[in-house]
Order: sequence, then C-alpha cells, then structure tokens
Amino acid sequence: MKTKEMESKAEPKRSPAQCRVCNCDQMHACKNVCSWVEPDLCSTCHTAATAIAGVLAEWRKVAVDPDLQALNREITALKGRVGTQKAGRAG
Ligand SMILES: [Zn+2]
Ligand SMILES: [Zn+2]
Repeated sequence: MKTKEMESKAEPKRSPAQCRVCNCDQMHACKNVCSWVEPDLCSTCHTAATAIAGVLAEWRKVAVDPDLQALNREITALKGRVGTQKAGRAG
C-alpha cells in the first residue's frame, strides 16, 4: 500500500514526543514553554546546544530534566554540522 501523505502540507498528527536531552514532553514542557526543533529535540535544549554562552544556566533552570551529558552530545553533533557550512571565515 502506498502512502500519499508524504508531503508536509497537512498538519501531521504528532505523536507524543519527548526531548532526548531534557525529557520534556507535551504535558511537561520546559518552563520557558519550548517547541520542537526536531522530532525529539526541544527548543530549550537546541538553544542551549547552539549558544552555550550565557544560556546554559538558563537552560538548567527551565529544562524539565537537564542532562548535561546529553546536551554535550548535541553540542558536538551541531558543531560537526556547522563546520561544513561556515568555511572561510576571516579570523
Ligand atoms: Zn529539551
Ligand atoms: Zn523542552
């Protein structure tokens, strides 16, 4: 059977997602009211992973269950991604 709902025109029925870093979910969102950046990564942790300076303390306050190790994994993964995009920066 073929699924024709592959396009993202209609709103996909989102199954209860849970952040892989802080374990927040629809019922237990972070205190700053996060949204989903990725299917299992919330905006609170994404922000913390992308802009470490200053936000880490904030992240620990607002994230449901802050997991620094998990966040560090995100940071490493994001750095690897960014590295290929930004080349040739004057320094
Ligand atoms: Zn999170
Ligand atoms: Zn969250």
